[in-house]
Amino acid sequence: MKTAPLKIDLHVHTQYSEDATTTLKELVHYAEKKGLDGIAVTDHNTLQGALKLIKRSQLTVIPGLEVEALAGHVLGLNIKTLIPPKLSITETIQKIHDAGGVAVLAHPAAILKTGLRQRITSESNLDAVEVINSGAFPFFLSTYLSYRFAERVKLPQTAGSDAHHAAEIGTAFTLVDADPDSNDIAEAIRKGATTPNGKSITWTQRTKRDAFYLTKIYKRCYSSKLSI
Ligand SMILES: [Zn+2]
Ligand SMILES: [Zn+2]
Repeated sequence: MKTAPLKIDLHVHTQYSEDATTTLKELVHYAEKKGLDGIAVTDHNTLQGALKLIKRSQLTVIPGLEVEALAGHVLGLNIKTLIPPKLSITETIQKIHDAGGVAVLAHPAAILKTGLRQRITSESNLDAVEVINSGAFPFFLSTYLSYRFAERVKLPQTAGSDAHHAAEIGTAFTLVDADPDSNDIAEAIRKGATTPNGKSITWTQRTKRDAFYLTKIYKRCYSSKLSI
């Protein structure tokens, strides 16, 4: 008998990422509250949160990174090796593959995030495209363009909240036909056994994010004694 697909948020940040506040305890609480079967922890430049969570939680955890490549952001899913930022998209994808992971292009059409600034060809060897990202703005246009892009390049589609605060977790998620094991989930994404789902974060959540970023920028400028 076929089991129901897993409901997984494939793009979540924790407080180990320099731009997010979510503790591991909050992450587990909200994942359960939103009825998720699993989470991909995709912090910037660190696997610390993901690896700690794997040890502590019953939840299916996919360790990953959001890598800031030169011409866009790439999610490396199911990896336990750091991938350096500021490489080309193709080099980034190659390094994710060398680490045994799945390479997913994040928010390719978002405007106020780093959208894709390079042509993707079959030689890029990308595995999937994130077509729904709850933080992308403007949400409906960015989602529409991302779906069109994924269809043009004929690649599997994923969705994730890109949560930077705990309450945003699960706002978007991917239904994955797989067993609750990160290797099996990675293989299912490669094969396209995925159905993206979800919506935008609320305006209140968006305002909270913006206030958090502005405070960080202000603190950075203040601590370096720059006048703003
Ligand atoms: Zn990003
Ligand atoms: Zn992100």
